[in-house]
Amino acid sequence: MFIAISDILKYSIDLVSVLLLALGIKGLSKVRSARAANRLAAIAMALAVLGLLFNSFLSSGISIFKEAWLWILLGTAVGGSLGIGIAKRVPMTSMPETVALFNGCGGMSSLLVALAYALFPDQIVNNSSVGQVNELVKQGSIVISVFVGAITFTGSVVAMAKLQGWLSTPKWIQSRIRHFINISLSVIALIGAIGLLTSSENGLWTLVVSSSLLGIGVTLSIGGADMPVVISLLNSYSGVAAAAAGFVVGSQLLVVAGAMVGAAGLILTQVMCKGMNRSLISVLFGGALGTNASLGASGSGEYSNITSCSAEECALTLEAAERVVIVPGYGLAVAQAQHTLREVTKALEIRGIDVTYAIHPVAGRMPGHMNVLLAEADVPYEQLKEMDAINPEFPATDVVLVLGANDVVNPQAKNDQTSPLYGMPVLDVQEARTVFVIKRGMSAGYSGIKNDLFELENTSMVFGDAKKVLGDLLVELKELGIDGKR
Ligand code: NDP
Repeated sequence: MFIAISDILKYSIDLVSVLLLALGIKGLSKVRSARAANRLAAIAMALAVLGLLFNSFLSSGISIFKEAWLWILLGTAVGGSLGIGIAKRVPMTSMPETVALFNGCGGMSSLLVALAYALFPDQIVNNSSVGQVNELVKQGSIVISVFVGAITFTGSVVAMAKLQGWLSTPKWIQSRIRHFINISLSVIALIGAIGLLTSSENGLWTLVVSSSLLGIGVTLSIGGADMPVVISLLNSYSGVAAAAAGFVVGSQLLVVAGAMVGAAGLILTQVMCKGMNRSLISVLFGGALGTNASLGASGSGEYSNITSCSAEECALTLEAAERVVIVPGYGLAVAQAQHTLREVTKALEIRGIDVTYAIHPVAGRMPGHMNVLLAEADVPYEQLKEMDAINPEFPATDVVLVLGANDVVNPQAKNDQTSPLYGMPVLDVQEARTVFVIKRGMSAGYSGIKNDLFELENTSMVFGDAKKVLGDLLVELKELGIDGKR
């Protein structure tokens, strides 16, 4: 009777965690519900740990699980404090590096779980909640867990180092030799996997080493604008590795949670691929993406014919406009100018000027970066327009304010086949009557290339930190008064 009730309790905890996690992921799709959704997902994880503790107490008759609850509590305390510490300190602009690091941790955990199972099968208690798992399925899951977990771990570390600027793309990896290296590593991994399935310890280590190197090989060649796609793909990989680890240890919760993360990551990757006009295959194999490693090759020359103006001139033009589109970019996040921007747009709206925000899918340094930034400043969600919706509206726009954005408004992506950005859909801001670009100087954006927009006749640069320039604009607009008179 006791066993039956405890089993019901065990399954119920798992089921509630899975449900909360699913609701959490669903809620993350809307800015308004995202905060609450994140809390739901955190509660789901806390319940999962509780379930694990409960499981360990149930199994306390078996040696290794006697002290398991201590390890679980210790791991939760150390991991939890590190997580809270990092999350509180990391600035929004460093979020992609943090996400890459967390993906890497997910991959490493799955790898370690599978390794433990492969090396010490007798010492692991099968307290399975997924029923009796066929031995072949279990061995296959170990192979997937090790392979995908190792790729995710090393790939994420490389992605993080590249985003942080600690690592650049080596010249040799830009040549075709990288395909030879990656294919060779894949073949060695396959041999290792077959070895592992036939119970050879050498096979296990061959698989671990070759998969780890493969993770480095495919990520190292990726550069510039393609990094966001890679990060969401690695996120998906970490889910796949976790689901496989779930089969290894017989955890229903891990299988479902991993599958959800894997699927959500894959959908996000496809959305990002569409946003950047890349094929998923080229991302998967680090193939065509490698062409972007040669950043700066195209259009990296000097600028000529640059027109610049003061905040005062910009305010005068804005004030006379009927329709204004704001293009936020990475520089806006760096300057933390979203609140000042909101004040400026309110000052325009009071004058009856129609204001909208053009959101490029990869503006900033992580998917959804600009949505989060603008939501922080209480910008009404209805004013945010995605690229496909806003592009046809630029010809009917009086003024575009490009705020700390660069790559996402570079016409080279459409006009210059030699450009590393070629093919990436961009915001057609040059179609508007007047374009003001607010940035500190003539530095390149993330992709490291020149921006042809800055030399166009209808473009004026307003040099300065985004927050400072927006503050000046606000002062000017206030001085002008609602009727446009000083
Ligand atoms: P970019 O990185 O292309 O350009 C940002 C611009 O902001 C720079 O040119 C810089 O010029 C300017 N800037 C920096 N600091 C300030 C400041 N304090 N005030 C004003 N301007 C400032 O940004 P975009 O958003 O246009 O494009 C994003 C790029 O990042 C794309 O290439 C994308 O692929 C890539 N990426 C996107 C990720 C994502 O998931 N969204 C993840 C990783 C990369 P200056 O120094 O002269 O001021």
